[in-house]
Amino acid sequence: VHMNGAFIYEIVMETGFDGLKEELKKLNLGERKVCIVTDSNVAPLYLEEVETIVSSCCKKAEHFIFPAGEEYKNLDTVRNLYETLILKQFDRHDYLLALGGGVVGDLCGFGAATYLRGISFIQVPTTLLSQVDSSIGGKTGVDFDSYKNMVGAFHMPKLVYSNTAALKTLSEEQFSSGMGEIIKHGLIKDASYYQWLMEHSSEIRSRDLAVLSEMVLVSNQIKRDVVEKDPTEQGERALLNLGHTLGHAIEKLSDFRLVHGHCVGLGCIAAMAISINRGLIRSEELPRLVSVMKQFDMPVTVNGLSAEQIILTTKSDKKMDSGTIRFILLEQIGKAFTCKTVTETEMAEALHHILT
Ligand code: NAD
Ligand code: ZN
Repeated sequence: VHMNGAFIYEIVMETGFDGLKEELKKLNLGERKVCIVTDSNVAPLYLEEVETIVSSCCKKAEHFIFPAGEEYKNLDTVRNLYETLILKQFDRHDYLLALGGGVVGDLCGFGAATYLRGISFIQVPTTLLSQVDSSIGGKTGVDFDSYKNMVGAFHMPKLVYSNTAALKTLSEEQFSSGMGEIIKHGLIKDASYYQWLMEHSSEIRSRDLAVLSEMVLVSNQIKRDVVEKDPTEQGERALLNLGHTLGHAIEKLSDFRLVHGHCVGLGCIAAMAISINRGLIRSEELPRLVSVMKQFDMPVTVNGLSAEQIILTTKSDKKMDSGTIRFILLEQIGKAFTCKTVTETEMAEALHHILT
């Protein structure tokens, strides 16, 4: 499936890597070198297959493998990547290709944005989260000390190629984490998609390829539409932060033991509770959300944290904008808005729904 819109690059979704060859050919890489950037979990699964395809479309394929995990999404790894590129004599016409999840995509994208003041790159996302979220929109970057995504750049890929069949090897936890962002997409933009997710939960959970592909396609479209309307993050794009304000704080306080999408899900419950308390949406929506999340094996409560801790961490977060916390609330299922007037009392009240 090809999607083209206002985006200058193509977003392609297939159920295998075979179609990558044709897409790479369109980029005319005959005289270019391509360095595949991947991590230690993805390399044994897909590097050989992808490298064979890439080799057949360019002058020379190289690869750079770094240890899997967020803790390697840092400047040390970027430095190692630069060294490899210099050693292999990459010039400003050559390409990087990110093969992996959001960690690989963010790091490779940042490497591409900065090496020789910017070279081209291709995204081949292999996690659910990266296929529906991080590979779209051009945000790249790495962590610095304990600060997440502190150093980065906007850099658009030349092509995004998602192979939904690669999602079959994803762990249950990582799969379920991606579902957090997907449920969020339904909540902020599309009530019928939200309903569809509930109705297809068993096919999704069993990773039925046809249903997965449809889901990735719709979520992709939602993220893309939002980003296209607001590439520089003035307003609309903020809606993608539903569940993230408190979710980030929970993620941080759990020392990243809780996966991102699960924290987003917990944050969505809290945002919905605030919306209900404000009389914006019906109270039946809360148990409904809890039940969808359970269908996708997402946690709906978290223990060992206090509302005070979470609020304090939220306040110190970068989302804080001249003293006010920007919150995303729901005015109905499928429609979200930015709100700067959420009080600490409202947050504390809402957090009681998820704290045990
Ligand atoms: P990840 O890249 O760490 O992948 C999760 C795990 O799955 C890793 O261990 C990875 O090796 C493994 N894996 C990847 N593909 C696999 C496959 N097909 N089969 C088996 N295992 C596989 O994490 P993620 O959830 O994909 O991405 C999280 C990162 O994305 C965070 O660093 C976050 O900051 C970033 N992010 C960026 C944006 C953006 O706009 N740039 C948006 C959201 C998140
Ligand atoms: Zn997120």
